[in-house]
Amino acid sequence: PDKLLIVVTPTYNRAFQAYYLNRLGQVLRLLRPPLLWIVVEMNAASIETSMILRNMGVAYRHLVCDNNKSAAIKDRGVHQRNTAIEHIETHKLDGIVYFADDDNVYTLELLQRMRDIRRFGTWPVGMMAQSKNKAVLEGPICSGNEVIGWHTNEKSKRVRRFHVDMSGFAFNSTILWDPKRWRRPTSAPIRQLDTVKEGFQQETSFIEQVVEDEAQMEGVPGGCDRIMNWHLHLESSHGMFDYPTGWMLQQHNV
Ligand code: UDP
Repeated sequence: PDKLLIVVTPTYNRAFQAYYLNRLGQVLRLLRPPLLWIVVEMNAASIETSMILRNMGVAYRHLVCDNNKSAAIKDRGVHQRNTAIEHIETHKLDGIVYFADDDNVYTLELLQRMRDIRRFGTWPVGMMAQSKNKAVLEGPICSGNEVIGWHTNEKSKRVRRFHVDMSGFAFNSTILWDPKRWRRPTSAPIRQLDTVKEGFQQETSFIEQVVEDEAQMEGVPGGCDRIMNWHLHLESSHGMFDYPTGWMLQQHNV
């Protein structure tokens, strides 16, 4: 049987949310099961998100991250991803885990290829940013499936060990509860991700808890010569996607 694919998506209500979640849900629908879409909101589940999930035709779990009521920082979904990881650990969901932000664009090919990952897979991501200082590509340079280097940029080069975008890697969930089998670098719980506040180090500090070095990674596909997903940076740079005045949102509990 095919490996379970566990897609983790932090999300929140904003004018483009329905557009984003539908776009992502529709590519997930094209994938052969088994697939589980874990969608996580902060503080409360919204009716908007529930409705979209219910009608998507994809197996899903709608979770709420409520352990961080005081956090005013915009953490780009860190706590929500941790909620999903806790859920995967608690229920020992055995599959390939992928962090898919709601606003990025993913090909079916990417999702299909993830099933071949044994331990930790990584690939280059197309970075669609308006800033000229940002890399066009982030992720591995490979010789076959071996990772031999990284596409990077001046700004992130000094602070990152691994130059991977959040949407540029996936891993076997058994790494979370079976560190010995996988020679995981630390026995500390992965939830340490919480301590990282913002910016470039988020991904690398997570990855450093799962693999020791490039030798434990698999470049996907061999040669890493394909772009299979794109990371958009639109909202953070513009305030133009706000709800129209008077728009109302309701909260409810799942
Ligand atoms: N996100 C969220 N709450 C927030 C900010 C972001 O749930 O307050 C989610 C967002 O929906 C996306 C992910 O976290 O799935 C990454 O957010 P964003 O795209 O803003 O980060 P960037 O692309 O700038 O890294």
